[in-house]
Amino acid sequence: GVALFPDDGEDAGTLLRHADMAMYAAKREGRNNFQFFSPAMNAATHEHLLLENRMWSALSAEGFELHLQAQVALDTGRVIGAEVLLRWHDSELGAVEPSRFIPVAEESGMIVPLGDWVLARTMALLAEWQREGLDHLRLAVNLSARQFSGGSLIERLDELVAHYGIDPAQLELEITESAAMRDPENTRQLLRQLRTRGFKLAIDDFGTGYSSLAYLKLFAIDRIKIDRGFVKDIEHNPNDAVIVAATIGLAHSLGLTVVAEGVETQAQWGFLRDKRGD
Ligand code: MG
Ligand code: MG
Repeated sequence: GVALFPDDGEDAGTLLRHADMAMYAAKREGRNNFQFFSPAMNAATHEHLLLENRMWSALSAEGFELHLQAQVALDTGRVIGAEVLLRWHDSELGAVEPSRFIPVAEESGMIVPLGDWVLARTMALLAEWQREGLDHLRLAVNLSARQFSGGSLIERLDELVAHYGIDPAQLELEITESAAMRDPENTRQLLRQLRTRGFKLAIDDFGTGYSSLAYLKLFAIDRIKIDRGFVKDIEHNPNDAVIVAATIGLAHSLGLTVVAEGVETQAQWGFLRDKRGD
């Protein structure tokens, strides 16, 4: 991290602080590189601290809520479950977009208590549905890379399942392709343990990271989720259409089911239904 006198600061303390910020920016880019300080880093750090502070109070003040995004079976048109999405309406900041707060939560480690809150709330909801006879519906929860590799995930899930008395098969855990590929061997073992417990497992945002088809075969997963980025222009963009069709074919040959994200039009629905195969 590099900060230069006098543009980036006129005293040692300021220069060191700014060099430090530049160093963190360099680390985010990976190892073996350097970054010069820029005023934008200062603004980003300020925003980061503000959001982190507000998130802590929102967590204790019930500022977060869960929204459900329905998952529908193509052949019957029936809702078979939903993905649980975290939404934040802050008492001071108003509605904060996930694209703004999730990266800050990831970076600060806040994502761990936040993710835990989501898991507990989701299981509570599943328990409620079970009592109401809605146990054919499953809920999918997004796991962050930190939760996934943190070492205490299995223990925590066991605890929550026992506490809420739910059937693990009703809970689908989604892990993104890039998180799964960070440490493939660890992922493989963890997925196996989760599978043994009966949880459903899905690879999220498929096609957006470094997909390793070899690992796809080794991972004990049930489902692939095609990223909405491919679904959006499926009718107009031949590349997207080919990628989606190939992914569906690949998944089915591996014995996996597929969820397409962000289906919003009849034409998208029709395309997916035609490509569904058997
Ligand atoms: Mg997801
Ligand atoms: Mg997704």
